[in-house]
Amino acid sequence: MSVVTRFAPSPTGFLHIGGARTALFSYLYAKRFGGKYLLRIEDTDRERSTQVAVDAIFEGMKWLGLTSDFPEIYQTQRFDRYAEVIAQMLAAGTAYHCYASREELDAMRAEQQARKEKPRYDGRWRPEQGKLLPTPPEGVKPVVRFKNPQEGEVVLDDLIKGKIVFSSDELDDLIIARGDGVPTYNFCVVVDDMDMGITHVIRGDDHVNNTPRQINILKALGATPPQYAHVSMILGSDGAKLSKRHGALGVMEYRAMGFTPDAILNYLVRLGWSHGDQELFTREEMIAKFDFEHVSASPARFDMEKAYWVSHKYLKTADLAAVVPEFDWHLRQQGVDPANGPALADVIVQQRERCRTLLEMAEKSKFFYASVESYNEKDAAKHLTAKAVPVLSALIEGLTELSDWQAEAIHAVVHAVAEKLGLKLGDVAQPIRVAVSGAAVSPPIDQTLMLLGRTATLARLAAAAAYAAQSAPAA
Ligand code: GLU
Repeated sequence: MSVVTRFAPSPTGFLHIGGARTALFSYLYAKRFGGKYLLRIEDTDRERSTQVAVDAIFEGMKWLGLTSDFPEIYQTQRFDRYAEVIAQMLAAGTAYHCYASREELDAMRAEQQARKEKPRYDGRWRPEQGKLLPTPPEGVKPVVRFKNPQEGEVVLDDLIKGKIVFSSDELDDLIIARGDGVPTYNFCVVVDDMDMGITHVIRGDDHVNNTPRQINILKALGATPPQYAHVSMILGSDGAKLSKRHGALGVMEYRAMGFTPDAILNYLVRLGWSHGDQELFTREEMIAKFDFEHVSASPARFDMEKAYWVSHKYLKTADLAAVVPEFDWHLRQQGVDPANGPALADVIVQQRERCRTLLEMAEKSKFFYASVESYNEKDAAKHLTAKAVPVLSALIEGLTELSDWQAEAIHAVVHAVAEKLGLKLGDVAQPIRVAVSGAAVSPPIDQTLMLLGRTATLARLAAAAAYAAQSAPAA
């Protein structure tokens, strides 16, 4: 049997991080067994579904690399198929028309509550052998109800939660199509899972209670129910329901925060799943190792600090080819043109030890691609004083003469200037940093100048020397 999984979001809100984790688990499980993974947009709730949310789902999935093995699937494009199955069920007697009005149903519910019973449909239109059904009222468009088996139980052998038994009499006859013919949520899911040959349904555990109903409908259709894996929810770091404050953000907001897709996936895969004490996984390792035996049945806690930790670890070792396009995007977000400076891979290599995210890296690397508009006030007050003028002049002189614009040669000039002026290396390096980057933090100075290039370096040193000459003498 070839594994087929699906991620079936309803486009009613933004694609948040919990949804991305469900998608990831579905994707990994399919890939682990050489199977297929599909993305299905459950947009039958037309009032609450929006195009913005649909776009966000595709954008997020694409960015994470969790792309479907099939063309886009929308439930709203499958209404003919749902109608066909409903007609089949009516003909087979596994579904029936119910003409009960809203008022009748409300009264039924009120009576049950008065008797302290659980509200449920009482089966008044349910056909049974020898039962006389009421005469259908005129002008009423009936709903279609599923004729749920009344005896026995439904056993859900959940791959994460274990065995859950539901008694059939807890399940009343579910409406599968409304009076206007629009099929209902649980029904569409069932027809899709059947038609698409889904072998493993991996989804949030808020769907556990839908599962026995879905299993019964599948059985009534003669289909073999898939296996189910209900993933526990994600809580905030304080144990409360995950909210924006804890990091329940849209997937693309993590991009804006400077995470790489691989780092996010790595963080997410460990949210509820473990493989010994391994924390860092490549995509290939995740695929090779993911299993349900090690997915926890209890809720995972979202921990932003850990996400940053993973991000940093990732940046330090990541394949440059994967990081360069993301870094390019961040620089553009900051309004600089990555073509106006050194190769991005070279800058990443210099910066990645000191940056936890690409956002931070882009902020700290902007100066390679755009001129320094102003100096950090504190840093300039400390390092671009009158005392810096001879330092900067000597550097300009030494560097102008340099024929070989390489880190080693640059290093030698900086050293020579420190020696000549009787200064510590830092007293030379710090004014250079402020001069070329605007602030007193940068990668090693020789690397920084090499990457920045001769022309920009000399121009910025000259501008800083002029600035320092005007400033008040150092206290
Ligand atoms: N559309 C449902 C949701 O977004 C998921 C349904 C399912 O996975 O079966 O919660």
